[in-house]
Amino acid sequence: MTVITHFIHGKSAPLAGARLSDVLDPSTGQVQAQVELATPAHLQTAIDSALEAQPAWAATNPQRRARVMFKFKELIEANMDELALMLSREHGKVIADSKGDIQRGLEVVEFACGIPHLLKGEYTEGAGPGIDVYSMRQPLGIVAGITPFNFPAMIPLWMSAVAIACGNAFILKPSERDPSVPVRLAELALEAGLPAGILNVVHGDKEIVDAILDHPVIKAVSFVGSSDIANYVYQRAAANGKRAQCMGGAKNHGIILPDADLDQTVADIVGAAYGSAGERCMALPVIVPVGQATAEAMRTKLVAAIETLRPGIPTDPDAQYGPVVTGQHKARVEGYIQMAVDEGAELVVDGRGFSLQGYEEGFYLAPTLIDHVTPTMKSYQDEIFGPVLQILRAETLEEALSYPTNHQYGNGVALFTRNGDAARKFAAQVEVGMVGINVPIPVPVAYHSFGGWKRSGFGDLDQYGMDGVRFYTRTKKITQRWPTGGAVIDQSFVIPTMK
Ligand code: NAD
Repeated sequence: MTVITHFIHGKSAPLAGARLSDVLDPSTGQVQAQVELATPAHLQTAIDSALEAQPAWAATNPQRRARVMFKFKELIEANMDELALMLSREHGKVIADSKGDIQRGLEVVEFACGIPHLLKGEYTEGAGPGIDVYSMRQPLGIVAGITPFNFPAMIPLWMSAVAIACGNAFILKPSERDPSVPVRLAELALEAGLPAGILNVVHGDKEIVDAILDHPVIKAVSFVGSSDIANYVYQRAAANGKRAQCMGGAKNHGIILPDADLDQTVADIVGAAYGSAGERCMALPVIVPVGQATAEAMRTKLVAAIETLRPGIPTDPDAQYGPVVTGQHKARVEGYIQMAVDEGAELVVDGRGFSLQGYEEGFYLAPTLIDHVTPTMKSYQDEIFGPVLQILRAETLEEALSYPTNHQYGNGVALFTRNGDAARKFAAQVEVGMVGINVPIPVPVAYHSFGGWKRSGFGDLDQYGMDGVRFYTRTKKITQRWPTGGAVIDQSFVIPTMK
């Protein structure tokens, strides 16, 4: 049995006597490896390594740090096929989608290649008599990231690329369900010229997360995962005086106006609802057609589109999506389908009971479509995180807009329409962090920032883009005067003003 170990100070760091957690192959349902779970003592080894390496890395000029990022980008591209296969084997998503996962992370590495420009401070000459004021951005020191299973390349790169380029040392605690790609990325960063100790990977579960949150040397924690844990991490990190940005779960709505291009909209929604087996925080698991005619037309077209979908193994080029991540998660999704039925919704297409020939033990679910969902149903209020699409009917745009606005989550939302005026008002009014207009998965590009509202995001700074740079640096503000000598310029017991 392969044992996946930690990556500390530039090398694999097996830890004798560690607890082990199974790493499954979701396609077959079999255990394919085990991952070591670290203890607080193991974390200390990673912190000692980071403490040793970080001052010199912070003192390395930003252009040289950027060159490491350029090389890292090249190496990720050169190893794309190997990384994608490794990712699919542990996560279950189809190969093309794994490449998308890696590519979206790579784009943040590209952004980080511009770090010399991004770190430039501000300067005011002559802010007062003979006084200049300037500010500079300095790294925090040692920072940590805790990541979910569903994007094992993209999310570790969202965090680590920016943190490292800013001059920090980064400790990554990836999901224990698919830990191999994060380790491989750390190896490639080392090969790209990153000094040992600047990117350490420590595996584990709650025990190690708590140790990260309590460790006084770690100055900031970035978390992405489910909302209850995001909230917990946010509160414990803040109580310990750390910066924290904690992204949580989601229930993204797709609102369809009667004037939308329905064929394009159906194509977009089917991809966004069922792609990656619905295991995306920016999936579209609820649609809100406006008007009964729109709802009926969408339902008919969706049923036809769903009939053409086929879950399969990740290497099957004809499969649109793969299995869900674990048997436990499959049972949870099935439970939500039953809950919707029990709550009085109409099960239009039932994806339960699907079995893939030759892979009968894999965690597959065929697409499910549920109509006549209402806002009081728990199956609507909760994040299901599987290949399940719900239809919540509305009579007006105002009513439709109220659903995502009033939902506990506020990650993403999409509006499908040809009406620019309606779209503009919708974008201004909806209480959701990321809005798509005829774009089903509005994940902002790497030089903007990513973050949801309400229970989808705790903390004020978003992931990557300039918010990432702000999160991983602190500004120092310097007010300077160089006396020319001679008489004392002034003395005052009044707060200095610019009066
Ligand atoms: P998860 O919350 O189970 O795990 C996330 C991380 O927290 C993992 O590293 C895990 O080891 C750790 N963890 C688990 N239980 C913990 C505990 N009790 N205490 C401390 N740490 C703990 O999430 P997941 O199942 O890996 O990922 C899916 C979730 O992540 C979904 O809710 C999805 O919407 C969300 N997600 C959100 C975003 C976003 O940007 N908003 C992006 C991707 C995923």
